[in-house]
Amino acid sequence: MGSVAEALVNFIYPPVCSTCERNLRRGEAFVCSSCWEDFERVSPTETITQLVETKFLADEIIDKIDSVFLFEQDRRVRQAVHLLKYGGAEAIAERFGFYISKKIVIDGKLSLCNTIIPVPLHPTRRRERGYNQSELIAGSVGKFLQVKHVPGLLVRLRQTQTQTSFDAEGRKKNVEGAFGLGKISHRELEGKKILLIDDVITTGATIKECARTLKSNGASEVYAASAAIAI
Ligand SMILES: [Zn+2]
Repeated sequence: MGSVAEALVNFIYPPVCSTCERNLRRGEAFVCSSCWEDFERVSPTETITQLVETKFLADEIIDKIDSVFLFEQDRRVRQAVHLLKYGGAEAIAERFGFYISKKIVIDGKLSLCNTIIPVPLHPTRRRERGYNQSELIAGSVGKFLQVKHVPGLLVRLRQTQTQTSFDAEGRKKNVEGAFGLGKISHRELEGKKILLIDDVITTGATIKECARTLKSNGASEVYAASAAIAI
């Protein structure tokens, strides 16, 4: 659409926030600033921190974890994640990246990472969608934290079925051996502290399989961060 036509459409039907439906202001896209600030967060209370650490770190595959928004508890967070996959990729990914980076800086747990890697999509899935939403978020985190983002380092070797139809054990089996290294020099991983980025962490099966692959190829520590988490 041409810019004049677009301006006219925007004048007659001003774009609204997809969660509260207020008119968006200049510089806002899809979700307004006050909704972003109001989303339910993984606040640093003892209980939530313990729940997250017990659920995702107990088996010592992932060394440290940080996440911003509560996926199960806030319908608006799920809506924003949905937009990321269907329509608002760039703007939402940029915002998610901003909030992840901000939390990493404040919490300080993951700030020593050397390299940022997104959870990869299979090339076929990526072609269908046109992009990998986790890669867009990881790129934004890399930009804000000034840490090298290497999207091709980890690749998905086979298409896995959608995790939603499996229980915890089934999810683990479903992703077993699904990841491998891209065409990289081994120096990229040797002794490095890697930060893995995903849009949502639910059971953790996928991100743990990624972490296992990175560690068996030389990474010294693997951290995980996501925009939203299920606890
Ligand atoms: Zn809003």
